[in-house]
Amino acid sequence: MKIAVYPGSFDPITNGHLDIIERGSRLFDQIIITIAKNSSKKPLFTPAERKKIIERALEDIKLHSPVTVEMFDGLIVDFLKERNARAIIRGLRAVSDFEYEFQMALVNRRLNGDVSTVFLMPHEKYTYLNSSIVKEVASFGGDISYFVPKTVQDEIRKKFDSM
Ligand code: ADP
Repeated sequence: MKIAVYPGSFDPITNGHLDIIERGSRLFDQIIITIAKNSSKKPLFTPAERKKIIERALEDIKLHSPVTVEMFDGLIVDFLKERNARAIIRGLRAVSDFEYEFQMALVNRRLNGDVSTVFLMPHEKYTYLNSSIVKEVASFGGDISYFVPKTVQDEIRKKFDSM
Protein backbone atom coordinates (compact mmCIF):
# COMPACT_ATOMS: atom_id res chain seq x y z
CA MET A 1 0.00 0.00 0.00
CA LYS A 2 1.67 3.24 -1.14
CA ILE A 3 0.57 6.07 1.13
CA ALA A 4 1.56 9.70 0.50
CA VAL A 5 1.13 12.73 2.69
CA TYR A 6 0.40 16.14 1.14
CA PRO A 7 1.17 18.80 3.78
CA GLY A 8 0.38 22.48 3.51
CA SER A 9 -1.55 25.44 4.83
CA PHE A 10 -4.42 25.24 2.32
CA ASP A 11 -5.77 28.63 3.41
CA PRO A 12 -7.88 27.99 1.37
CA ILE A 13 -7.42 25.14 -1.11
CA THR A 14 -7.10 26.33 -4.73
CA ASN A 15 -7.44 24.70 -8.14
CA GLY A 16 -3.63 24.37 -8.12
CA HIS A 17 -3.72 22.21 -4.98
CA LEU A 18 -6.61 20.17 -6.38
CA ASP A 19 -4.68 19.58 -9.60
CA ILE A 20 -1.76 18.20 -7.55
CA ILE A 21 -4.10 15.99 -5.51
CA GLU A 22 -5.69 14.58 -8.64
CA ARG A 23 -2.27 13.81 -10.14
CA GLY A 24 -1.09 12.28 -6.87
CA SER A 25 -4.15 10.07 -6.66
CA ARG A 26 -3.03 8.41 -9.91
CA LEU A 27 0.31 7.51 -8.34
CA PHE A 28 -0.51 6.53 -4.77
CA ASP A 29 -2.98 4.12 -3.18
CA GLN A 30 -3.93 6.69 -0.58
CA ILE A 31 -3.25 10.36 0.07
CA ILE A 32 -3.51 12.04 3.44
CA ILE A 33 -3.72 15.82 3.21
CA THR A 34 -2.37 17.39 6.40
CA ILE A 35 -3.26 20.92 7.39
CA ALA A 36 -0.63 22.77 9.37
CA LYS A 37 -2.34 24.33 12.39
CA ASN A 38 0.43 26.62 13.54
CA SER A 39 1.63 28.17 10.36
CA SER A 40 3.54 31.44 10.79
CA LYS A 41 1.24 33.11 8.27
CA LYS A 42 -1.88 34.74 9.67
CA PRO A 43 -4.62 32.48 8.33
CA LEU A 44 -8.01 33.55 6.97
CA PHE A 45 -9.68 30.24 7.87
CA THR A 46 -9.29 28.16 11.02
CA PRO A 47 -7.81 24.69 10.51
CA ALA A 48 -11.27 23.14 11.07
CA GLU A 49 -12.78 25.44 8.42
CA ARG A 50 -9.96 24.62 5.99
CA LYS A 51 -10.55 20.90 6.56
CA LYS A 52 -14.25 21.22 5.79
CA ILE A 53 -13.58 23.33 2.70
CA ILE A 54 -11.09 20.77 1.37
CA GLU A 55 -13.46 17.86 2.00
CA ARG A 56 -16.24 19.66 0.18
CA ALA A 57 -13.94 20.53 -2.76
CA LEU A 58 -12.77 16.91 -3.05
CA GLU A 59 -16.35 15.77 -3.61
CA ASP A 60 -16.37 17.55 -6.96
CA ILE A 61 -13.18 16.18 -8.50
CA LYS A 62 -12.35 12.81 -9.97
CA LEU A 63 -9.99 10.93 -7.69
CA HIS A 64 -8.27 7.63 -8.47
CA SER A 65 -7.59 6.61 -4.86
CA PRO A 66 -8.91 7.59 -1.43
CA VAL A 67 -7.94 11.04 -0.14
CA THR A 68 -8.47 12.05 3.48
CA VAL A 69 -7.82 15.28 5.40
CA GLU A 70 -6.28 15.67 8.84
CA MET A 71 -4.85 18.43 10.95
CA PHE A 72 -1.31 17.97 12.11
CA ASP A 73 1.23 19.99 14.01
CA GLY A 74 4.75 18.80 14.44
CA LEU A 75 7.40 17.17 12.33
CA ILE A 76 5.86 15.82 9.16
CA VAL A 77 8.28 12.87 9.17
CA ASP A 78 6.83 11.77 12.53
CA PHE A 79 3.36 11.80 11.01
CA LEU A 80 4.57 9.70 8.07
CA LYS A 81 6.13 7.15 10.41
CA GLU A 82 2.93 6.91 12.42
CA ARG A 83 0.94 6.22 9.24
CA ASN A 84 3.46 3.97 7.59
CA ALA A 85 3.78 6.43 4.70
CA ARG A 86 6.96 6.89 2.69
CA ALA A 87 6.23 9.84 0.42
CA ILE A 88 5.60 13.54 0.87
CA ILE A 89 3.87 15.24 -2.06
CA ARG A 90 4.74 18.85 -2.79
CA GLY A 91 3.82 21.04 -5.71
CA LEU A 92 6.45 22.85 -7.75
CA ARG A 93 5.19 25.85 -9.66
CA ALA A 94 8.25 27.81 -10.61
CA VAL A 95 11.94 28.14 -9.93
CA SER A 96 11.01 30.40 -7.02
CA ASP A 97 9.55 27.39 -5.16
CA PHE A 98 12.70 25.37 -5.66
CA GLU A 99 15.08 26.65 -3.02
CA TYR A 100 12.67 26.31 -0.11
CA GLU A 101 11.32 22.96 -1.28
CA PHE A 102 14.84 21.61 -1.85
CA GLN A 103 15.83 22.56 1.70
CA MET A 104 12.68 21.01 3.23
CA ALA A 105 13.06 17.80 1.22
CA LEU A 106 16.68 17.34 2.30
CA VAL A 107 15.95 18.17 5.95
CA ASN A 108 13.09 15.68 6.01
CA ARG A 109 15.28 13.01 4.42
CA ARG A 110 17.98 13.74 7.01
CA LEU A 111 15.39 13.29 9.78
CA ASN A 112 14.05 10.08 8.30
CA GLY A 113 15.95 8.32 5.52
CA ASP A 114 12.88 6.26 4.58
CA VAL A 115 10.99 9.33 3.43
CA SER A 116 11.13 10.73 -0.11
CA THR A 117 9.59 13.96 -1.31
CA VAL A 118 7.83 13.69 -4.64
CA PHE A 119 7.39 16.92 -6.60
CA LEU A 120 4.47 17.24 -8.94
CA MET A 121 3.94 20.05 -11.38
CA PRO A 122 0.45 21.40 -11.82
CA HIS A 123 -1.11 22.17 -15.17
CA GLU A 124 0.67 25.27 -16.50
CA LYS A 125 -2.51 27.30 -16.14
CA TYR A 126 -2.11 27.09 -12.34
CA THR A 127 1.60 27.85 -12.07
CA TYR A 128 1.07 31.44 -10.95
CA LEU A 129 -1.57 30.58 -8.39
CA ASN A 130 -1.35 30.57 -4.61
CA SER A 131 -3.79 31.01 -1.73
CA SER A 132 -2.49 34.49 -0.86
CA ILE A 133 -3.19 35.97 -4.28
CA VAL A 134 -6.69 34.47 -4.28
CA LYS A 135 -7.40 36.08 -0.89
CA GLU A 136 -6.03 39.40 -2.07
CA VAL A 137 -8.14 39.47 -5.22
CA ALA A 138 -11.22 38.38 -3.25
CA SER A 139 -10.65 41.03 -0.57
CA PHE A 140 -11.09 43.70 -3.25
CA GLY A 141 -14.16 42.01 -4.70
CA GLY A 142 -12.35 40.59 -7.74
CA ASP A 143 -13.44 37.53 -9.70
CA ILE A 144 -11.76 34.37 -8.33
CA SER A 145 -13.87 31.85 -10.24
CA TYR A 146 -10.87 30.69 -12.30
CA PHE A 147 -8.73 30.07 -9.21
CA VAL A 148 -10.94 28.12 -6.82
CA PRO A 149 -14.03 25.88 -7.08
CA LYS A 150 -17.48 27.44 -6.61
CA THR A 151 -17.83 26.04 -3.08
CA VAL A 152 -14.54 27.66 -2.04
CA GLN A 153 -15.54 30.95 -3.67
CA ASP A 154 -18.70 30.97 -1.57
CA GLU A 155 -16.75 30.30 1.64
CA ILE A 156 -14.30 33.13 0.90
CA ARG A 157 -17.13 35.57 0.20
CA LYS A 158 -18.91 34.56 3.39
CA LYS A 159 -15.72 35.07 5.37
CA PHE A 160 -15.06 38.54 3.97
CA ASP A 161 -18.69 39.52 4.45
CA SER A 162 -18.48 38.56 8.13
CA MET A 163 -15.33 40.64 8.75
P1 ADP B 1 2.77 25.86 2.47
O1 ADP B 1 2.38 26.92 3.44
O2 ADP B 1 3.33 24.63 3.08
O3 ADP B 1 3.56 26.36 1.26
P2 ADP B 1 0.53 25.77 0.72
O4 ADP B 1 -0.87 25.47 1.07
O5 ADP B 1 0.83 27.16 0.25
O6 ADP B 1 1.37 25.37 1.95
O7 ADP B 1 1.03 24.76 -0.37
C1 ADP B 1 1.10 23.38 -0.13
C2 ADP B 1 1.82 22.73 -1.28
O8 ADP B 1 1.06 22.93 -2.47
C3 ADP B 1 3.19 23.30 -1.59
O9 ADP B 1 4.01 22.24 -2.03
C4 ADP B 1 2.95 24.25 -2.70
O10 ADP B 1 4.10 24.41 -3.52
C5 ADP B 1 1.85 23.55 -3.45
N1 ADP B 1 1.04 24.48 -4.23
C6 ADP B 1 0.42 25.60 -3.83
N2 ADP B 1 -0.22 26.22 -4.85
C7 ADP B 1 0.01 25.44 -5.95
C8 ADP B 1 -0.33 25.54 -7.33
N3 ADP B 1 -1.01 26.57 -7.82
N4 ADP B 1 0.09 24.56 -8.13
C9 ADP B 1 0.82 23.55 -7.67
N5 ADP B 1 1.21 23.40 -6.40
C10 ADP B 1 0.81 24.33 -5.54
